[in-house]
Amino acid sequence: MSTNHPANIDVAAALAEAQELYRARNPKSLAQYHEACAAMPGGNTRSAIFVDPFPLTMSRGEGSHLWDLDGHEYVDFLSEFTAGLFGHSHPKIRRAIDEALDSGWNLGAQGAAEARFAAAICDRFPSIELVRFTNSGTEANLMAVSAARALTGRDKILVFAGGYHGGVFYFRGKGSAVNAPFDFLIAEYNDIESTRALVAPHRGDLAAIMIEPMLGGSGCIPASREFLADLRALASETGAVLIFDEVMTSRLAPGGLQEVHGILPDMTTLGKYVGGGMSFGAFGGAARIMEWFDPRRADGFQHAGTFNNNVLTMNAGHVGLTEIYPPERARALNQFGDGLRERLNATVRRRGLAMQFTGIGSMIGMGALSTLIAVPLAVTARWLTFANHGLQAAVGAATIAIGIRTIVEMAWA
Ligand code: PLP
Repeated sequence: MSTNHPANIDVAAALAEAQELYRARNPKSLAQYHEACAAMPGGNTRSAIFVDPFPLTMSRGEGSHLWDLDGHEYVDFLSEFTAGLFGHSHPKIRRAIDEALDSGWNLGAQGAAEARFAAAICDRFPSIELVRFTNSGTEANLMAVSAARALTGRDKILVFAGGYHGGVFYFRGKGSAVNAPFDFLIAEYNDIESTRALVAPHRGDLAAIMIEPMLGGSGCIPASREFLADLRALASETGAVLIFDEVMTSRLAPGGLQEVHGILPDMTTLGKYVGGGMSFGAFGGAARIMEWFDPRRADGFQHAGTFNNNVLTMNAGHVGLTEIYPPERARALNQFGDGLRERLNATVRRRGLAMQFTGIGSMIGMGALSTLIAVPLAVTARWLTFANHGLQAAVGAATIAIGIRTIVEMAWA
């Protein structure tokens, strides 16, 4: 940090100092942000990527590196919130897209690529006997929940505090006024007793239980195996549809966390990297459920979508899953991630920093607490007064200013 600044002795001063450095370092991003504000609210079309005081504008990506408008180079640890698994310029993805474009796009018809890609997904994820494609993970979850409601004739959807299942399924903090208008019950993650107590008066009304087997956006908090097994039992007892949202976690083992735990949901939703870095979502599951979407069925469910089988995603996704990220590669990457997390945690312990790295395999969260984080930070903040928003914001700003790379380099040392 610059020596021109007074030593910061409180969180507000540290935050102000970090923000000042950030402004001074990124004038072109700031100008671009002002331009964006003219046509988009807050200059933004994607809530998750806004940061105070303004976001950086990236101009280029190559491999695992990014460059912003002001010419700074970054190592990309965000990796497009897990979707960027293959990096920014993988030659095999590029070739798959080029080959798709060579044969034309928007054909308004079935293609061979979707059948090939669907077969690869069914081979890979244990609970998926049949699958359908969407354009996003949000849409996949909308379809899965809607199918569960139609199948059961019930309304209640059990979700968990800290969960995120897409733009209209936001259960962090105070939730979102624009959530889909389903009848949600919101339980505590990893707490089966209070979950069962919440469900008890509604057992006959429960259509679905939707859960991320590890909370991704809320800090990489894994669900315990016991918790997932109990939810499996609860779904079977009540006749509800158990939905695993593996939009992020499917990359953590060849067959996702359902394979790791040996617990099969009735439906699974996928997204992110599975589409090879193109717009993607999918929902799949037991044939007895998915067959309701068979268009030959007179009483079947509708599921249309202009771009569901777009040739870019169908080709890039297939190459990504089968050639770049086959099972052995998935195992190796996640072993590497586990090793990196252990080294990071050993480093911060050795240096006495109130910080820890959470997660499983190749997904690593950073929390500014030294006590074990087992529930989402928003929940933790209710009983740990020092884990307040200001501190999180300061850590976020400082991370951008000094770079998480520093900590990673320390872990390597
Ligand atoms: N589910 C989970 C667990 C996610 O992390 C996300 C996105 O971050 C989604 C669903 C929504 O996916 P998409 O952004 O493709 O709509």
